[in-house]
Amino acid sequence: MPHSDLTFDGVLAAAEIVGRELPATPLQAHPLLDRALGRPVLVKHENVLPTGAFKVRGGVHLAARLSDAERTHGLVTCSTGNHAQSVAYGARLAGVRATIVMPESAPATKRDAVRALDADVVLVGASLGEAAEHARALAAETGASFICPTDERIVLGHATAYLELFGQAPDLGTLFVPIGSGTGAAGACLVRDALAPGCRVVGVQSEAAPAGWRSWRAGTIETAPATTRAAGLATTTGYPRTQEILRDRLDDFVLVDDDAIDAAARLLATCAHTLAEGAGAASLAGAAAAAAAGVDAAGTGPIAVVCTGANASADEIARLAGSVAAA
Ligand SMILES: *Cc1c(COP(=O)(O)O)cnc(C)c1O
Repeated sequence: MPHSDLTFDGVLAAAEIVGRELPATPLQAHPLLDRALGRPVLVKHENVLPTGAFKVRGGVHLAARLSDAERTHGLVTCSTGNHAQSVAYGARLAGVRATIVMPESAPATKRDAVRALDADVVLVGASLGEAAEHARALAAETGASFICPTDERIVLGHATAYLELFGQAPDLGTLFVPIGSGTGAAGACLVRDALAPGCRVVGVQSEAAPAGWRSWRAGTIETAPATTRAAGLATTTGYPRTQEILRDRLDDFVLVDDDAIDAAARLLATCAHTLAEGAGAASLAGAAAAAAAGVDAAGTGPIAVVCTGANASADEIARLAGSVAAA
């Protein structure tokens, strides 16, 4: 397959491709948010992209780098969330067939979003694990390629968000990035090392899905149950391809609880006129925890967080509304 290596040059090449399809996203200051945190914080608004999440960058880059076999036989993957929409978006762009396997319990809104991008949805299994098994079997049977969420083409696509960010704010002191499978954070580290070696990159995960955190701390691939309400962070294992990069390069990795993530989503709604899903608010939860603890209060440069996604579930929207009304 025509993979690039996971290098800064690979990110530059990906940015040329992604930039032809997607506009750069804004990096914005929100004065009310600065007050709430007690320090200035910049928000990278990936929520404004098509599909509502940064993952579309991976899908767009993938679409330009498909092998002949992938073009002929199509793509298959399994996801209920933003990875599904990203692969569907990329496949439509490339004019190839995509099949997304989802567990039977997948919400109708998620199925509809993928079908609206012209991908086929197959509902199988009680869990994402069972759906994944079916997706791999389907790939073996039909010759379609199974697209792993940490496919190198996807990691390089995601890294283009950080190429933009460090261009927009070259003097950042600390960047908080949410971690599920680790593609975004790995991309951030690749770009930081080349453009902004003085900036700290801090990963943020839910303590109710700490597999990535455990893997990073142990230096080995670890698993953990995922009970978090933030679907974009609900991974149950460390991913070797991204952990290999994060192991040496990520400066710190913090856990936040789901209530802190809800509180951060509320801050984005009330102080930054932004609807975020839980995973999209997690990096702000990490920054808020650091601010509350007085970490880096003296600060070496501005702080940035990434609003990675806007696809809040009905429950997330209800909790947001309930909390805002009660506040
Ligand atoms: C997938 C996702 C994440 C986590 O990104 P990884 O690359 O899996 O670490 C964060 N936020 C949103 C909105 C996501 O969809």
